[in-house]
Amino acid sequence: MTQRQPLGPPRLVWQKAAVEAVTPETYRVKTFTLRPQEWRPFRPGQHFDVRLTAPDGYQAQRSYSIASEPERTGTFDLTVELVDGGEVSPFFFNVVQMGDEIEVRGPIGGPFTWTVLDGGPVLLIAGGSGIVPIMSMLRHRTAMMVKQGGAPPPPALLLYSSRSSEDIIYRGELDLMASGDGSFQLFNTLTRHQPSGWKDYARRLDRHMVADCIGRLGTPRLTFICGPTGFVEAAAEAAVEAGAAPASVRTERFGPSGS
Ligand SMILES: Cc1cc2nc3c(=O)[nH]c(=O)nc-3n(C[C@H](O)[C@H](O)[C@H](O)COP(=O)(O)OP(=O)(O)OC[C@H]3O[C@@H](n4cnc5c(N)ncnc54)[C@H](O)[C@@H]3O)c2cc1C
Repeated sequence: MTQRQPLGPPRLVWQKAAVEAVTPETYRVKTFTLRPQEWRPFRPGQHFDVRLTAPDGYQAQRSYSIASEPERTGTFDLTVELVDGGEVSPFFFNVVQMGDEIEVRGPIGGPFTWTVLDGGPVLLIAGGSGIVPIMSMLRHRTAMMVKQGGAPPPPALLLYSSRSSEDIIYRGELDLMASGDGSFQLFNTLTRHQPSGWKDYARRLDRHMVADCIGRLGTPRLTFICGPTGFVEAAAEAAVEAGAAPASVRTERFGPSGS
């Protein structure tokens, strides 16, 4: 009797990944560089599931987006923001160290992915840790630019909302990208506290802000929005109102688990 081959992509299984580095990003965000036993290619925007098991067998599972670019193989980065009173993020933030092993499953995710082959202009809107999958897209974009000898990649504009300047994740790297790449525009908005002399936006994201960004970028071929649920919904409405085609708007919600 011949055995039938299963159809579709190979089933994702849980596997161990070694923590190779822990890098503080802000006072409540850290990046974990993981080396899985079996490396699989991924697309910028995808995520991994992470599973923690307590000594009594209790398990908790959460999703975390990949922050690194797919051009780097063998390891990938997850960036985790501490959620007060949470089950999994405080464990990452306070306990996980270099040399530990954690269980992961992935990469996972389809529509919320982008590579340079998908083209532009691309509008990127992030709230808080919603920057993580978008950073993978931007790092990929930069890596492809270097690989192609400086040829400009698809134009991109990032509108990034944070509470204060201390909360901006990857701040130095984003500033560097914006200063070294004429086809990438970066706009921050700070919703709670602004340092003196702050020149970018200083309020919660609204339709005027999104329309202003679309005016600077041109009508986006694709829009990616990631962050807390309410933020994502407001940004998606604003993008469509300002001229983005509804079918071109892709969203990822980092809302409370279980939602
Ligand atoms: C596809 C996907 C990708 C994600 N990628 C990332 C990522 O790259 N980085 C990252 O830091 N998080 C990411 N998240 C969120 C992450 O999965 C967890 O929800 C988050 O870390 C909180 O988990 P917790 O166990 O610490 O809190 P929980 O124990 O789940 O919740 C504790 C309390 O916090 C509230 N809460 C839960 N999640 C959030 C949240 N995100 N913001 C504010 N309050 C919350 C809950 O309502 C509850 O009251 C992603 C979520 C999804 C669905």
